[in-house]
Amino acid sequence: MKLYKVLLGLSVAALLTTCARRPTKLPIYDVVINHVTVVDVATGQLTPNQVVAISRGKIVEVQVADKDSYAAKQYVNGNGRYLIPGLWDMHVHFRGGDSLIAANKKSLTLFLAHGITTVRDAGGDLTPSVLQWRRDMDAGQLAGPRIFTSGPKIDGPGATWPGSLEVETRAQIRRALDSLQRLKVDYVKIYDSKISGAAYLETIRQAQRRGLKTTGHMPYSVTLSEAVKRGLDATEHLYYVFKACSGKEDSLTTLVRNSLSTSKPLGLFAMLPAVYNTYNPKAAARIFALMAKHHTAAVPTLYIQKTLAELAENDHAQDSLRAYIDPKIQATYARRLASARQQPAAARAFGQKLNAKFMTLVPQMQAAGVTILAGSDSGPFNSFIYPGASLQDELGLLVQAGLTPLQALQAATVNGARFMGVANRTVAIAPGKDADLVLLTANPLDNIANVKKIDAVISRGKAYPAPALAGMLRAIKNR
Ligand SMILES: [Zn+2]
Repeated sequence: MKLYKVLLGLSVAALLTTCARRPTKLPIYDVVINHVTVVDVATGQLTPNQVVAISRGKIVEVQVADKDSYAAKQYVNGNGRYLIPGLWDMHVHFRGGDSLIAANKKSLTLFLAHGITTVRDAGGDLTPSVLQWRRDMDAGQLAGPRIFTSGPKIDGPGATWPGSLEVETRAQIRRALDSLQRLKVDYVKIYDSKISGAAYLETIRQAQRRGLKTTGHMPYSVTLSEAVKRGLDATEHLYYVFKACSGKEDSLTTLVRNSLSTSKPLGLFAMLPAVYNTYNPKAAARIFALMAKHHTAAVPTLYIQKTLAELAENDHAQDSLRAYIDPKIQATYARRLASARQQPAAARAFGQKLNAKFMTLVPQMQAAGVTILAGSDSGPFNSFIYPGASLQDELGLLVQAGLTPLQALQAATVNGARFMGVANRTVAIAPGKDADLVLLTANPLDNIANVKKIDAVISRGKAYPAPALAGMLRAIKNR
């Protein structure tokens, strides 16, 4: 074992207890980062010239670097560098059936290499594997981000995504929630491909009574305010918030509801132009205030929105990150690509107009006190949304939309941890907190794109300097 001596100020108490009795036995930390500028993502405060000592997965010391020496098994040079909490991607997917388990597993490396130390799995059909990876990572046998998972999605009969729990009656909802609780999932994800408005609201009600968080899409036959009042904890993507920004939300909702018993049922995509044309700032302010009051968070997923809207124009053949996406996952990209290419020019133009409008909602929600969660929607079938890098790009778009770099960082750190109820044990760079950190060579508060300038990632107390991350990436590279 190679020991590095590093400079560190010892507290007086530590000096007395450690040095007075056993002067030769200084504590040996697992990792020590020296002379680093610590970024407090809660306040935006920068504290230069700090030493951060880590042992057994936790931060144990954070103090001014001065004369006294500490020993560490691994020393990371923090000089001229910025230390932030590890990033959280609050919307990812592991899915595609058993033949894609190994391909999905490789994304754990991509997340880590891009500074993502926690992900929220927003539903899929690989739950047993996801839970197994989580156990392996907790046991120190596998490197990768911490995973919060919803397990399978809840949806209606004949659901689009394989592996969904299909519900219509109260009893079916009860059994679905029973099965999710047996899996010990972290929250419930509701999808809107087939679920009825009544079953949707009933699922939120029953989950709420069990103390389970709910997030999701939403059938256009209900209003977001109904869902928010029932206790929906987060709305994924901006389609549902946007509908509530219509001055004609009630009549549009009635139109959808009445269409469901006819041969031409109306859904989200049929309604979007009408919603767009009836956008009303007062209605927008009303729903944002309601969301803030009920603590309903929003996951804007701007990057996938933009990528999919530009799918037909943009050639992704030369994307360097494709080399790290398993060919079996790349094959799943074809579906969305084909439908984008078939889209008429007018629909494509509307998609871009819609995105521009979605961008304007983000700073308004932030100002109204709505919690913004950064999520990429990376995963199989979501074409060219590369795990890890897509979250970095999401942060860029959140800033482009009007958030400050600090607010964007909060959306990918403290907001996620608070949402999952674990902010007391992580995301602050302070003694006792999880050692999930990212060392950057430039200040992310100056330019959010600096989150890409990664010098090292610390995950569960283990340091991965850039060369180690590059080596891990080489190991998953397509041959
Ligand atoms: Zn998703």
